[in-house]
Amino acid sequence: MRKRWISLLVTGLFVGGALVPATPAMAAPTFKVPFPCGQSWSGQTRSDHSPAYAVDFNRTDDAGDPVVASAPGTVDRVTDLGGTSYGKYVRINHGGGYSTYYAHLSGFNVSVGQTVGYGKVIGWVGSTGGSTGPHLHYEQRLNGADIQVRFNGSLALYWGTKSYTSGNGCSSGSGNGTVDTSGTPLTVRSGPGTGYASVGTVADGTRVTIACQTSGTTVTGTYGTSSIWDRIGSGRFIADAYVYTGHDGYIPNVPRC
Ligand SMILES: [Zn+2]
Repeated sequence: MRKRWISLLVTGLFVGGALVPATPAMAAPTFKVPFPCGQSWSGQTRSDHSPAYAVDFNRTDDAGDPVVASAPGTVDRVTDLGGTSYGKYVRINHGGGYSTYYAHLSGFNVSVGQTVGYGKVIGWVGSTGGSTGPHLHYEQRLNGADIQVRFNGSLALYWGTKSYTSGNGCSSGSGNGTVDTSGTPLTVRSGPGTGYASVGTVADGTRVTIACQTSGTTVTGTYGTSSIWDRIGSGRFIADAYVYTGHDGYIPNVPRC
């Protein structure tokens, strides 16, 4: 929950300074697996795919799962081709001639012109267009031509199916918070809401690791009113309105539960 003003100022200055040095021309972006940090997905390549180097990603019950930007860039297409081809797809321009495609989405979470970073949710896995079941069709292109996919500089498996674990948007420091109730212990619930069973408490001032965040009962606490709940363990949720995380709303790079 809420960030201090001093932190915002310091962050702004740091980012401004970091942007001054020129970035190397034409450097390939460091592409990451297009799903939230820590998730494992089965990626399939096959020589009869169109285009050939595209990767189809699946995991159990993947329909509706969030798809994230695989590198920073600017969204330059948010297009619905209807029942053909890519169906609903997003294209991100990463500069230097590099772009990525995310196809058969069930819906969009970005618009054309939007700047995105690692871990930004751009849409959700679906089965739109020429697709026979939910999956993410993913491509990397250079100057418009399909290229072999790399994650963190490592070539994907051609040809075959392999498990890829996302390191996208993982960063130390995010995903932590400090409980702030001004004294009283905070109730831990079995799910993201006040209607779920109490499964214990955490003391005021406790440092917590937040595995993921989700929307639940709206709660008014130390940091205002919020419907965000933080999962701090298996079957253990606390209201984000009582947790200092350094961020208003969802913590960037922490996945949705
Ligand atoms: Zn495909």
